[in-house]
Amino acid sequence: DSPIQRKPEWIRVRAPNSPVYQETQALMRENKLVTVCEEAACPNIGECWSQRHATMMIMGEICTRACAFCNVTTGLPKALDDDEPARVAEAVATLGLRHVVITSVDRDDLEDGGARHFARTITRIREASPSTTIEILTPDFLRKPGALPIVVEARPDVFNHNIETIPRLYPTIRPGARYYQSVRLLDDVKRLDPAIFTKSGLMLGLGEEKMEVAQVMDDFRIADVDFLTLGQYLQPTPKHAAIAKFVTPDEFKDYATTARAKGFLQVSASPLTRSSYHADSDFAALREA
Ligand code: SF4
Ligand code: SF4
Repeated sequence: DSPIQRKPEWIRVRAPNSPVYQETQALMRENKLVTVCEEAACPNIGECWSQRHATMMIMGEICTRACAFCNVTTGLPKALDDDEPARVAEAVATLGLRHVVITSVDRDDLEDGGARHFARTITRIREASPSTTIEILTPDFLRKPGALPIVVEARPDVFNHNIETIPRLYPTIRPGARYYQSVRLLDDVKRLDPAIFTKSGLMLGLGEEKMEVAQVMDDFRIADVDFLTLGQYLQPTPKHAAIAKFVTPDEFKDYATTARAKGFLQVSASPLTRSSYHADSDFAALREA
């Protein structure tokens, strides 16, 4: 185990206690919905839930992978819940969201990796809330031929798949995944439907060098990735990967400048940036621009 380091003063979060926070929490409980906000112990939960912005996690709470940074339980997941897409759609309608982010655990146990369940969820949300823009944050569908087109055909507005870290750190940080599989997935989304915005992100502070991050940005641009998020990795428990470094706010600004120069449409880079942080306002701003 690696003891959790003291956080610098720029990683400060508001305690979750507002009335809207409580309402959001009650709604998730009533609809038996899982959120990545809670499962990943996200530091922004107070701020996001107070604005009714929650990221729902479909296909259960148990993941078939064991990434070294992630707080989600690893194991054999339960069977899919066929009513879940409808419950998610109902919650989105009740929350009155203009933009929703839907993510999932990895389901290597399913023949299609959960692609059909993702597609059904997108379709149900569209039916119930036609003006809500839909962002999905998907697994890599490694060894699931035919899965990706099923999800793309459901036409999410934003297709997000996180690279998480630089290729050199994959064997220790993301052992079940393949760097180029993830880059190719993003490239394939654009080829299948150029109207879908693509998005990816990295956690910094795991031991990456600046040049290695710049190389990932170049790989993304070759794959036509539109949006980039960069945030500080925080160690959820002592059993998870240790923090190699707290990247300073100024360093995040430098990364953002580099990324904008490389041509991303939208860049979010700060210590508390998560891939779904401010996703609603960022996307609205882009559409109005
Ligand atoms: Fe949830 Fe994303 Fe906000 Fe974190 S940043 S609380 S995961 S919506
Ligand atoms: Fe966590 Fe996703 Fe890795 Fe599963 S695949 S352990 S949910 S980061």
